Amino acid sequence: MLKAKVLTVFPEMFPGFLGYSLTGKALEEQKWQLEAVNIRDYAFDRHKSVDDTPCGGGAGMIMRPDVLGRAIEATRTKGRIIYMSPKGRPLTQKLVHELAAEEELMIICGRFEGIDERIIEAFNVEEISIGDYILTGGEQAAQILLDAVVRLLPGVLGNEASLEDESFENYLLEYPQYTRPITWNDRDVPEVLLSGHHQKISQWRRQQAEIATKERRPDLFKKYLDSKNS
Ligand code: SAH
Repeated sequence: MLKAKVLTVFPEMFPGFLGYSLTGKALEEQKWQLEAVNIRDYAFDRHKSVDDTPCGGGAGMIMRPDVLGRAIEATRTKGRIIYMSPKGRPLTQKLVHELAAEEELMIICGRFEGIDERIIEAFNVEEISIGDYILTGGEQAAQILLDAVVRLLPGVLGNEASLEDESFENYLLEYPQYTRPITWNDRDVPEVLLSGHHQKISQWRRQQAEIATKERRPDLFKKYLDSKNS
């Protein structure tokens, strides 16, 4: 079972949206565990200060290595230590699968302008980014990472088969989906989907997925072609 430990100055932000829907139900059923560690509990002074001004000057505050280091040391397990960071390795569905196979994950949530670089070196921390934009804190990013990881854990999604055709599995975006009513505001569901002909349906879906990927995500489409030819 996955045990996730998040280091944060806002423990009350957890489980946040992870407490709802499938991830929330799985948490309740102990299909995964979540612990939020308050970094402030490891501060040294009366004011529980966790940050200080950047050496060399500049705007904002940096999270202190002594306090964060003490929090990591006091709570670490054998698993990977991740720092949510815009400078990190991009979070992809491939990496999500990799993380879903882990027993334990420690996730450091940055605030202010981020954390002292020496923490990353000293604890062999992996930096992971959820995209090329800047958030106010790592808590939001950690919840997104965990949401993606937890839905891959055994027994979390009702229908495991629904994973296979999803966007990014096999480097393709998903084909368009429809449900009843068959006609809505003069728009019909594509006829092939009503044919009951499984082979034709999967051919059509594959074709639609390829068209969408080629148009919208040429970078992904190239990976798809490479993976087909290898
Ligand atoms: N000064 C930093 C940004 C700090 S944003 C820089 O320019 O790189 C504050 C915190 O939010 C970061 O420490 C990080 O934990 C989190 N964060 C912001 N954007 C993120 C992103 N795209 N992916 C993951 N974490 C992010």
